[in-house]
Amino acid sequence: MTTDKLQGEYITFKDGEYQIPDNPIVGALAGDGIGPDIWNATRMVLDAAVEKAYAGKRTICWQLLAAGEAAFADTGSYLPEETLAAIKKQLIAIKGPLSTPTGGGIRSLNVALRHHFDLYACIRPVRYYEGVPNPMKRPGDLDVVIFRENTEDVYAGLEWSAGSVEAEELGDYLREKLKVKLRSGSALGIKPMSPEGSKRLIRKAIQYAIDNNRRVVTMVHKGNIMKFTEGAFCQWGYDMARAEFSDQVITEEELVTRHQGDWPPGKILLNDRIADAMFQQLLLRPSEYDVLATPNLNGDYLSDACAAQVGGLGIAPGANVGDGIAIFEATHGTAPKYAGLDKVNPGSLILSGKMMLDFMGWKEAGELVEKALQKAILGRQVTYDLARQMDGGEEVSCSTFASLIVKSM
Ligand code: NAD
Repeated sequence: MTTDKLQGEYITFKDGEYQIPDNPIVGALAGDGIGPDIWNATRMVLDAAVEKAYAGKRTICWQLLAAGEAAFADTGSYLPEETLAAIKKQLIAIKGPLSTPTGGGIRSLNVALRHHFDLYACIRPVRYYEGVPNPMKRPGDLDVVIFRENTEDVYAGLEWSAGSVEAEELGDYLREKLKVKLRSGSALGIKPMSPEGSKRLIRKAIQYAIDNNRRVVTMVHKGNIMKFTEGAFCQWGYDMARAEFSDQVITEEELVTRHQGDWPPGKILLNDRIADAMFQQLLLRPSEYDVLATPNLNGDYLSDACAAQVGGLGIAPGANVGDGIAIFEATHGTAPKYAGLDKVNPGSLILSGKMMLDFMGWKEAGELVEKALQKAILGRQVTYDLARQMDGGEEVSCSTFASLIVKSM
């Protein structure tokens, strides 16, 4: 663990609010594979934006933390206790991709981090940047922020292989006690979804919409089939919104029954859509959607599908957020074949850094990052992934692309 500016101060979290000093200590996990390349590029861009926005009055004191293969080589652990303790103190961190260790033990370091800190909301904003090659006629119509539940649903890790003792015993219980018809030798999985887990995720999505002047929050579920899990997710969302946000939120039903279809100014509309229909809606009527709140599996599919609509995962940012701890991260993996080649697109981690600056309330710096990235893309000197699909695109390295972004500020 190394801190480059020791005069930094820790961020604190009190009564649901972060207090951000002018020189916050922020954790940085470069990650594996292409991680160090995109982290160096990102740091260059974020430091330049903060310097430019606040003329030296604010600065981030990065504390570099060990995780992944390098940490394993040094300490024998992929996710050292020291790193977890540091993040707990820093409250905000940014990370590059981490490879999933093979050979058992940890399922995925990313999942381990999410579970350890109960980072229950995976937040993925998806919008179009002009000039990014993409398959749509009007890619700019899509501008959504996806809140995906991170801890429950079929991702909870409750599954047993076909023929295992656990699957057989559970199968016997289901057949005998619940009179369920089940083929013998079936593999079994459990899909837990709780009122608490659902409400806290939907609450975060609504609060985000309020804080960021968004107009619609859509709960995406498959409640027509899975009534007691996905259907309940949606119902718990409506119950919570009525109890906690009645001044700020109206439901689609209330819009019709109480307001004759006239949307009261300033109110956020809460509605829901069945997941399969939502995939069509996002292609056919993307401008009607704004903030999406989804269970774990729906959110996983939807966020990649949305990213594809605006040009792919290469520049899709993300964050995993709990109550009091937030980790911002690139949404792609470690792309091992490009490791150390200074070649790949740092856009995903840079935009995750922009999300982090916004989250810290440093919106001026966040805006500088986004505008400069947009300008650099329009300049057509871009990394290989974009250059090869752009008319007149010229390939530059990861670090050169970052310096072009800085120059565009
Ligand atoms: P990947 O995202 O690492 O790479 C797939 C391909 O996408 C690459 O070969 C490359 O062509 C392209 N690509 C990825 N990032 C790019 C970038 N920034 N710029 C340009 N092109 C880019 O997916 P994978 O190969 O399935 O996974 C490799 C490793 O990453 C695995 O160990 C996996 O577990 C891990 N992983 C980690 C995360 C994470 O840390 N959040 C996410 C996904 C996968």
